[in-house]
Amino acid sequence: MVQRFDVSERFAAGTQYIAGKTVPGTSDLRLTVVDPATGAPVLGHRAAGAADVDAAVRAARDALPHWAGATPGERSDAMHRWAARLRELAGELAYAESLQCGKPRKLSEEFDVPGSLDNVSFFAGAARHLSGVAAAEYSGEHTSAVRREPIGVIGSVAPWNYPLQMAAWKVLPAVAAGNTIVLKPSELTPLTSLMFARAATEAGIPDGVVNIVTGTGGEAGEALVAHPDVAMVSFTGSTAVGRRIGEIAASGPRAAKRLHLELGGKAPFLVFDDADIEAAAHGAVAGALINSGQDCTAATRAYVQRPRYQEFVTAVADLMRTVRLGAPFADGTDLGPLVSHAHRDRVAGFVERARGYARVVTGGEAPGGELADGAYYRPTLITDAPQDSEIVQQEVFGPVLAALPFDTDDEGLALADDTPYGLAASAWSRDVFRTGRAAREIRAGCVWINDHIPIISEMPHGGYRASGYGKDMSAYSFEEYTQIKHVMTENTGAVRKDWHRTVFGDR
Ligand code: NAD
Repeated sequence: MVQRFDVSERFAAGTQYIAGKTVPGTSDLRLTVVDPATGAPVLGHRAAGAADVDAAVRAARDALPHWAGATPGERSDAMHRWAARLRELAGELAYAESLQCGKPRKLSEEFDVPGSLDNVSFFAGAARHLSGVAAAEYSGEHTSAVRREPIGVIGSVAPWNYPLQMAAWKVLPAVAAGNTIVLKPSELTPLTSLMFARAATEAGIPDGVVNIVTGTGGEAGEALVAHPDVAMVSFTGSTAVGRRIGEIAASGPRAAKRLHLELGGKAPFLVFDDADIEAAAHGAVAGALINSGQDCTAATRAYVQRPRYQEFVTAVADLMRTVRLGAPFADGTDLGPLVSHAHRDRVAGFVERARGYARVVTGGEAPGGELADGAYYRPTLITDAPQDSEIVQQEVFGPVLAALPFDTDDEGLALADDTPYGLAASAWSRDVFRTGRAAREIRAGCVWINDHIPIISEMPHGGYRASGYGKDMSAYSFEEYTQIKHVMTENTGAVRKDWHRTVFGDR
């Protein structure tokens, strides 16, 4: 389904999408989108500076009264048309996503694009469902009702690992709820966010409802987060940048903006001794390598009960060796390059340092030959790493899995929680009491039982602890982009209300 097109021609007018128009950035900085499979430049463009961010926020502010005042049904209809337009563009979106990220085409075609399209349909439906406590006379003398209202202009900053899905997760609940938005995608991967926004205009969503600024975090990102007309900041990215964004959002003239932070992860993969080891090994390899391991919920730490540990390590290593590295658009490619050469070198650095204290069972190198120019890295399994080592504790964000043994169930569950992160986890067992305990006790925003990775529009995605707070997807995410107003109407018309005696007079 991948449909190629000329990227330079498509983005000749620029890479900022403001008030329904594509315009060039005005920063002095020039950025280049690079194909990580070859290192070749794909698109050179002028980045967004503070003036572009200001123009985008103004466009969003101007569009707000009309969009917030539309009926839920009108917003829903417009979003259904947007979904239809995106379905027409599915092949081009898959092409651009694979080109800028290096994803194998089957991943873009079967996961990124359909998942994002399903999100549009889901939030088009959610727009009509404003949930809350029923209006009633809870005090006896007043009618209490809840209004669920949009928040205003949302400023959103997204990472490079799933650019289209991240744009969908940020933009859709916001606009479904009647807000308008300015999104800054990662400077590495702006293409599909721009196509996503342009499709909104083509579907009849008013100008200024969805705006995209493409620039760096330090320049465009900080200007957006700090902008006084941005009422809420929604961020997905690393924990370190999330903390910085929290500081900016809490200060300045518009202090205490609402914050939504989806941060890093270091998901444990807990295998009990009664598990189906063949299934667990397949799950671990797929869960660790999806998107070349550049997935915030990827399986990164496999804890395996000691009697089955060696069997698991052997099965995972064997399976990893069968995974075919290759060019993103080539037939038969399972795994593409990482997003950039700099990121590949960062991942390789983790593995090189691990050689000093652990064992690299398979992988641990960049391939040569035809793939030597790309940002490729071989699937890597590491054993014998101490629990407190950096490969076990820190987010590597590459195709690297560490495996460690444990003895008792108590120990396995404690190890699963033993990092600052809490985004996702999985538990593998045929015993419902064991999996039930894991589901209850692991402190993470998602616990899979006998699987690892699947997500779905209807269910929330988001972290505990250093993985942030707030949910993407699902009705929970829609609610986060609304604010609740209690309207309390006195029904008796009495001059002296009963409660007035607390201020003057006696009963
Ligand atoms: P990153 O934190 O480096 O960058 C994310 C975004 O923030 C980019 O658009 C970047 O330009 C911007 N940014 C950087 N500094 C900024 C600043 N000072 N002010 C404003 N914006 C700034 O993350 P990344 O490397 O792009 O993505 C990988 C990270 O994202 C990983 O940590 C991963 O776990 C996380 N992630 C989390 C989820 C989730 O749902 N929790 C999903 C995907 C990715």
